[in-house]
Amino acid sequence: MIPYGRQQISDADVDAVVQTLRSDFLTQGPAVPAFEKGIADFVGAPFAVAVNSATSALHIAYLALDLGPGDLLWTSPNTFVATANAALLCGAHVDFVDIDPISLNLSTEALAEKLKQAERAGRLPKVVVPVHFAGEPCDMAAIAALARQYGFKVVEDASHAIGSRYGTAHVGACDQADLCVFSFHPVKIITTCEGGLVTTRDATLAARLRRLRSHGITREADEMEGVPDGPWSYQQIELGLNYRLTDVQAALGTSQLRRVESFIAARHALADVYDKEFDGMNVRHSVRGPGRFSALHLYVIRWPDRSRLDRRAAFERLRTAGIGVNVHYSPVHRQPYYRRLGFSPELCPNSLDYYRQAITLPLHPGLEPSQQRHIVSTIGHLIAGS
Ligand SMILES: *Cc1c(COP(=O)(O)O)cnc(C)c1O
Repeated sequence: MIPYGRQQISDADVDAVVQTLRSDFLTQGPAVPAFEKGIADFVGAPFAVAVNSATSALHIAYLALDLGPGDLLWTSPNTFVATANAALLCGAHVDFVDIDPISLNLSTEALAEKLKQAERAGRLPKVVVPVHFAGEPCDMAAIAALARQYGFKVVEDASHAIGSRYGTAHVGACDQADLCVFSFHPVKIITTCEGGLVTTRDATLAARLRRLRSHGITREADEMEGVPDGPWSYQQIELGLNYRLTDVQAALGTSQLRRVESFIAARHALADVYDKEFDGMNVRHSVRGPGRFSALHLYVIRWPDRSRLDRRAAFERLRTAGIGVNVHYSPVHRQPYYRRLGFSPELCPNSLDYYRQAITLPLHPGLEPSQQRHIVSTIGHLIAGS
C-alpha cells in the first residue's frame, strides 16, 4: 500500500540517535535545548518549548493562557480532534467556526460574524485556534485584527505547517499570534517519532510553558516564592504535567530539521504534477493561495459529484489498487463524543460539504514518480467511470 504520508530517515538521523543513546543524557540533557533553538531560529521566534506531542503542546498552550472552566475556545471543525480535545481537558467549552470552501481553513468572515453575535450574547471566546490545514496558512492578519477588537488570544495549530510562510514570515514567528504549536508525528513534515513544540515571542508565557511541561516545577530563583532552602531545592509553584520530549527524540528532530527545506521542495514538485493532472481532469484540489507558501502536509482532491462512482466507492477502489488514500477530516463536531456534548452534525455546513467530497492522496518526499503515475491514472479511470 502506498502510504498517504511517511517519514524519511537518513543515515545521519540514525547516527544522531545512536550518538545520543550512548551519551550521558537520554532526557533532560543538551539535545532538547539545541532542538528548541534550531526550531526557534528556523521560524524566527525568540522562544521554543519542546514537548512529547502536539496534543501536549496544545494542552499546555491553553493552560498557559489560563483557559479553564467557564471559558470558551473556538476552532475549525476541519482539524484533528486534539485541537478541540485539549480545551475540553482544561475544563473549557469548545465551539466551531465554519471553514472557507476554497482555503479549507477557518473562515475569517464566519469568525467576524460569529464574534458579533457572541458579543451581543455576552459569550465571547477567550482563545481562538486557527489551524493551517494541509500547511496552507490562515489569514492571520485578519484574525489578529479581530483578536485586538474582541480581546481574545490566538493559538495557531501549525501541526501541518512547519516551513509554511505567511507573507515573508514563517508560520511560528508569532507576529500575529500569542502561541504556535507544531507536531513531529511521523506523517508530518519532520519527525521526532512523537513530539510537539510551542513557539512564542512572550518570555513570561515561555517560562510558564517550561514549568507546565515538567510538573509546575521551577529551578529559577526569580520564579520561586520566599527564600529557597538551599542550592539543591526546586519549587512546585503550580500544577503541571510530565510532557517532556527525550534527548534521543530531540537529536532526531535536529537532524531532520537540516532537511526540512528539501522535504518541502519534494512535496511541492509532487504537488505541481498532481495540480497539472487534476486541472486536466477538471478535478478540484487543494489550492495554494497568493502571498502564502504551504509546507504541503496534505494533498486533497474533491471527488466530483458528476462521477458515476461516489466518493466512498472511489475510496475503496483506490485502496484496492494499493493506494493508501485517507480523509482529512471528518468535522470534529460529528464525532460521537462531540455529538453527545450536544453538537448538531449539521453545524458548519461548508465543513460538511467539503468532507463529503474529500480524498487525501499520498504525498511525501519518498513518493516515487512511478507510484504517482499509478495514482493519477487510477483516478483518471475511476472518474471516467471505468
Ligand atoms: C497531528 C495533529 C495534531 C496532534 O499531533 P500529535 O503530535 O500527534 O499529538 C494536532 N492537530 C493537528 C491539526 C494535527 O494534524
